[in-house]
Amino acid sequence: MVYTIDMLINKIEEMEKSYDLDKIQSAYGLAEKAHNGVFRTSGEPYITHPVAVAYILLEQFCMDTDTICAALLHDVVEDTDIKLEAIQKKFGEDVARLVDGVTKIGQVPLNTREEQHAENIRKILIAMSKDIRVIIIKLADRLHNMRTLESRSPEKQLKTSLETMNFYAPIAHRLGINDVKEEMEDLSLRYLDPYGFKEIEALLDVHKDERDTFIDRIRGMISERITDIQPPPIIEGRVKSIYSIYKKVYIKGKDFSEIYDIYAVRIILQTVVECYNVLGIIHDMFRPIPYRFKDYIAMPKPNRYQSLHTTVIGREGIPFEVQIRTQEMHNTAQYGVAAHWKYKAGIQGSVAGEKRFDWIRQLLEQQQEADDVEQISEAIKVDLAPDDVFVFTPKGDVITLPVGSNVIDFAYAIHTQVGHKMTGAKVGGRMVSFDYTLHTGDIVEILTTGSESYGPNRNWSEIAKTNEAKAKIRAWFKRERREENIECGKAALEKELRRNAMTVDDEMLLEAAQRQRFASVDDLYAAISYGGVQLSKVITKLKEELLRHQKITAAVQPVDIEKTISANNKRAQKNGVILDGIDDCAVKYAQCCNPLPGDDIIGFITRGYGVSIHKADCQNVALGLKSENRDRWIAAHWAVNSSSSFRATIDIIAEDRTALLADVTTAIASNRLPIYEINAHYLKNGNANIIVTIEVSGIEQLKNIILRLQKVPGVISAERTGKQ
Ligand code: MN
Repeated sequence: MVYTIDMLINKIEEMEKSYDLDKIQSAYGLAEKAHNGVFRTSGEPYITHPVAVAYILLEQFCMDTDTICAALLHDVVEDTDIKLEAIQKKFGEDVARLVDGVTKIGQVPLNTREEQHAENIRKILIAMSKDIRVIIIKLADRLHNMRTLESRSPEKQLKTSLETMNFYAPIAHRLGINDVKEEMEDLSLRYLDPYGFKEIEALLDVHKDERDTFIDRIRGMISERITDIQPPPIIEGRVKSIYSIYKKVYIKGKDFSEIYDIYAVRIILQTVVECYNVLGIIHDMFRPIPYRFKDYIAMPKPNRYQSLHTTVIGREGIPFEVQIRTQEMHNTAQYGVAAHWKYKAGIQGSVAGEKRFDWIRQLLEQQQEADDVEQISEAIKVDLAPDDVFVFTPKGDVITLPVGSNVIDFAYAIHTQVGHKMTGAKVGGRMVSFDYTLHTGDIVEILTTGSESYGPNRNWSEIAKTNEAKAKIRAWFKRERREENIECGKAALEKELRRNAMTVDDEMLLEAAQRQRFASVDDLYAAISYGGVQLSKVITKLKEELLRHQKITAAVQPVDIEKTISANNKRAQKNGVILDGIDDCAVKYAQCCNPLPGDDIIGFITRGYGVSIHKADCQNVALGLKSENRDRWIAAHWAVNSSSSFRATIDIIAEDRTALLADVTTAIASNRLPIYEINAHYLKNGNANIIVTIEVSGIEQLKNIILRLQKVPGVISAERTGKQ
């Protein structure tokens, strides 16, 4: 059937409600002009489609003027040059909002992979239709497209039918618009399983006469028993929809003959009391099938459906379902949400959109279908969370994010790498800023870089709203910083090792790291850099490590290697000692023997501490040369032009007298030698003991000062001591 504006106007004039005919004609005028020259695949002018949609909304749902106008204009913004602003200017806020809503939900990519996904999309479609009239227009639009699907290509038929079956029919069901739901299902099935559809159609056709006779007889029997009810009840008899039978035969695997619900008789009464009375009469007349009675009057379905259902068996042994309800319940059952406009004229969408949306939301939230067995399988649990927004990838995947989320959250929700590589984002094809707040139904495209060097901006972690995105951004920076950290930590440790004249190998570093509970040396470096561990502590640990190695590997055990090194490194001069075959090596002087220039010396290659210099006659050398580490001993000599200075300690015994200490210090000072430390105390025999530590340039200078001290009056002895 081709719909014309005249048909629409005639229909409007038939309606009991009043309509703004001028506004509707003006909307038609604009749509007609906008779609001028465009034809549907069926060959009809495009304008016939919006007119048909408007007609359906008028005839089936008695929708108001604005809805009719919006229906006429519903494809204008999407398909023609006309802008939404123009519609708003000419037809007002409401019409513009309805057109915009229909346009937007029409852009939602519909694809099904799994039930949960489809359910999300259904939720989005409903949630996006803040004004429920939007979804009703969309249902009428889809219904007309389904009715005229014949002229489309097989691919288009399949795609459209699949969408209708998966999205629009369930939405119609959810909104309680049963007529539309059933018609959509049957039309879809025709394309989705043409053979199955035809088979059932044929089965139903075979006994059409018998069936009609059967239904008529049942109606007559019931009618006779309830004649005293006034006004007379409406008794309808029908065969259930092809799709509902198809489901039972093909999906439930039932035999056609076992299907109880092929026949349905409906009794429409005035009051609820009458409904229960009639139920009693029906159960008296026919044998009820156990467990098939449902009281949806006492317990309405979430989509507000109310009715009494029972299945009984007639005398012929043919089961049939009886539905008993009031007229009001019947209206709701047929038109669902739309019954609002059809039967409550005057409301006409005057309820604030927000409130109306609340009502739908409640409806959805309550949806916990305790339906009859067949419908349980299709029961859909809805938890439309008002705190979430549902947005799409360009491929149609649904991403659920908390309200207030932006494109950064979206990118990280898709994939961490998508977030890290994001360079920009498009919403609905337009570039947006990173802080663009997403709305349900937005189709978001993330632009990413193919470059090897990429990463989030530093301020992203503040812009992002979701903890997930924030954490991923922070993790990236921590990881990136980690590389910097490792570099810095490594450099810092190496510097400190050099300063301490320590050389450590990788194995030793790893051991030190592990002793401090780091998994790797890199972790240790990183920790040094970000302050997770103190560098001085690491050095100490490394010294312990070195000591441990030396204890294990060398028989030579310096008295107190740590002290020795810290005391000696200050005077470890590069050119102080020449080592055979080794250049530029850290050198320290063993404390056990305290070698001075002029002494015969020998070097010991330590594990990591450089070369330790001992006096050749040191007893540790004697032991060391016999140990398994004897290979580590190397020849060493004092450099000829050594400018190094060394500390030496001299032990003086003298008769106690006044000014003894002054004379001793004067003797040292007159040689211009610095005194580091001087201690004096009385011995039990009445003599005095002075221990003085001085700095000398070599053994010759030390010998001279000792001679000098021995000449100080009262001095009994002055000797170099190994102790410090
Ligand atoms: Mn359309």
